[in-house]
Amino acid sequence: MKIEGMLKEEFKEKLCQEARSQNIELNENQLEQLYMYKELLVEWNEKMNLTAITDDMGVILKHFVDCLECTKVISDEETFIDVGTGAGFPGMVLAIYYPNKKFTLLDALNKRLIFLQEVIDKLGIKNVKIIHGRAEETIRINNMYNSYDASVSRAVAQLPTLLEYTSPYVKVGGKCIVMKGDNVEEEIKLSQNALKVLNLKVEGKTEYSYTVDGEEYNRSILSVKKLNNTPSKYPRNYGQIKKKPL
Ligand code: SAM
Repeated sequence: MKIEGMLKEEFKEKLCQEARSQNIELNENQLEQLYMYKELLVEWNEKMNLTAITDDMGVILKHFVDCLECTKVISDEETFIDVGTGAGFPGMVLAIYYPNKKFTLLDALNKRLIFLQEVIDKLGIKNVKIIHGRAEETIRINNMYNSYDASVSRAVAQLPTLLEYTSPYVKVGGKCIVMKGDNVEEEIKLSQNALKVLNLKVEGKTEYSYTVDGEEYNRSILSVKKLNNTPSKYPRNYGQIKKKPL
């Protein structure tokens, strides 16, 4: 059942319950900030294309709770980069959940970053930095190799390409946290070469599901460990990545 136009307290209550049903606890401050984020997302989505999901239950489940599932594979990592963050998923949601960890949100589309700056300003967020650029270019321009304890990403590219974008940013011993659907085994099979040449190893998979409007969504999160330095030829430029994915 679609519940449209929830009042603020209803929204927070529902979000709290849905997160709790996935064993994720949210405090009042997090609930308040997520509510404000949702309000801005819906408002800004009327003037620019940020997301196809703007109904309350959709935002609660497909955006907020979905992104919060990453907390199950995060422990003592302190610094994160969200590559292809779009309207802030999962990076902004995780920054709200972890006010003491640091997040860099990167995207090639500047208009989405203008929205994210508004979220930062309106919510008073202190632990997020945003960067405009393509992942494979920004890393060289800003010399950002081996800079983060972990990367996070959702819905950006097929796994071999995604790992080429993200793993160079991660420190040796750190990990790429990859949010995917339920066909992830197939993608892992297709990523054997990428894992080998980028010095990576899939070290864990977390599966979860939720139901929206009677439809079940089966999702998974991969933890991919960086075993050694990325060879300096990676990431290649966009043309090469597209023409010959790893
Ligand atoms: N992660 C968000 C989510 O799950 O809602 C956004 C997903 S959207 C389908 C993909 C985003 O990745 C877009 O905002 C796009 O601009 C960005 N993107 C794709 N390739 C990129 C690259 N090479 N470097 C930076 N951003 C990229």
